[in-house]
Amino acid sequence: MSALTEFYGEIAACQRCILSQARKNTVPGEGPEDAEIMFIGEGPGFHEDQQGRPFVGSAGHFLEELLEDIGLRREEVYICNVIKCRPPGNRDPLPEEIEACKPYLDRQIELISPRMIVTLGRFSTEQYFPGAKISHIHGQPRKVGGIIYYPMYHPAAALHQPKWRQVVREDMSKIPQVLAEADRIAEMELPQDAEQLSLF
Ligand code: SF4
Repeated sequence: MSALTEFYGEIAACQRCILSQARKNTVPGEGPEDAEIMFIGEGPGFHEDQQGRPFVGSAGHFLEELLEDIGLRREEVYICNVIKCRPPGNRDPLPEEIEACKPYLDRQIELISPRMIVTLGRFSTEQYFPGAKISHIHGQPRKVGGIIYYPMYHPAAALHQPKWRQVVREDMSKIPQVLAEADRIAEMELPQDAEQLSLF
């Protein structure tokens, strides 16, 4: 059994927060263990909960379209969410739910060890760019600990707000170049006593 499969089993049994009570399936994430790029969204919706897979609804189709535009198939990237269980009625995840699920996300990053983490939407962006407005920082890479963090709007938001659709396309189109120039992006220094990874 691979480390990732074993890890998914651990998540499937999780009852750390109240979201365990109404879920049909946990949605740990999917993609190759050696993926270069990891996309982190918000949380599972109805279809994701039904199927146990991330990004399978309309936002997922849009994400696949965006990946195709840069010559990638979804099978080549790793896709997951900040929380692994669906909030009732697709409400926003609560801070305590994100906190309870955070060790899984951290472990996932350790296992995949991606070159680039693309945060999709404000909840995943907030994990690495606390307090920053996504409207100010989207499409701007930061490098910490050898990993490039790249914030983008969530594809679902872009589907609901046509004005963001082009912005999302443009940010996605820059990813190959950001990766190609990764070695030239300056590493950010973090204070020794930083309690959490903040890229600001
Ligand atoms: S959302 Fe995360 S912490 Fe909460 S029950 Fe699901 S897997 Fe566990």
